[in-house]
Amino acid sequence: MALSTHTSRASELAARLAEVKGRMEWACARAGRDPESVRLVAVSKFHPASDILALVEAGQREFAESYVQEALLKQDQLVGQDILWHFVGGLQTKKAKQVAGRFVLVHSLDTGKLAVELARRAADAGVLQSVLLEINMGEEQKAGVDEAELPELAELVLSLREDDVGLDLQGLMCLPPMFDAPEEARPYFARLRELRDELSASLGAALPHLSMGMTGDFEAAIEEGATIIRVGTSIFGARPQKR
Ligand SMILES: *Cc1c(COP(=O)(O)O)cnc(C)c1O
Repeated sequence: MALSTHTSRASELAARLAEVKGRMEWACARAGRDPESVRLVAVSKFHPASDILALVEAGQREFAESYVQEALLKQDQLVGQDILWHFVGGLQTKKAKQVAGRFVLVHSLDTGKLAVELARRAADAGVLQSVLLEINMGEEQKAGVDEAELPELAELVLSLREDDVGLDLQGLMCLPPMFDAPEEARPYFARLRELRDELSASLGAALPHLSMGMTGDFEAAIEEGATIIRVGTSIFGARPQKR
């Protein structure tokens, strides 16, 4: 019986994944974009390693976590699997050491202090840590750098790369306020893209990535230029309560 429960969960996850991919393809078609230009990152926070494994078997390769301890535990449980791990949660400076070099992309860099510490830890580990800057886009939001302080932080981060160690700035991320309708999030996505374009021009840096769009609004985000969408609930179902 345990096996059949597992099997039905695995097929449920595979079906949900396929549905999300179908919606991504439609959104790309509407926007005239190549589906290959958008990466789907499955946000697995609070979901068990067995769910992640089922999705790996269904062809999903990129996963994101929001809590350092939970993420490292799952990395251990799934060691040897072909997984690219992302970090999307709030990161305390004192945990930078545990993160450097263990995630392909940290989406949530938002202070100079954290940048300096993460760069130092990446250098200690001999790695180039790819990062995005998280932009604060709403009054009720605590995380993220304010638009006005973005150019200064971006310049700092660009200075924290030394050949093949330190930080590699890849773009911007946002978590707009929660809305009932995805259309309400669209202006925030358009704004993130505009900020990226301005910053890229003023700094002469490529900044290829825009991490934006979640379960409720990823199609609008794709239409506005997202290169990475972070989807949890549509793939895994509702999140269990945190233990
Ligand atoms: C949890 C989380 C997501 C996924 O949210 P869903 O609405 O479940 O798709 C995306 N991004 C971040 C930063 C998150 O913390």
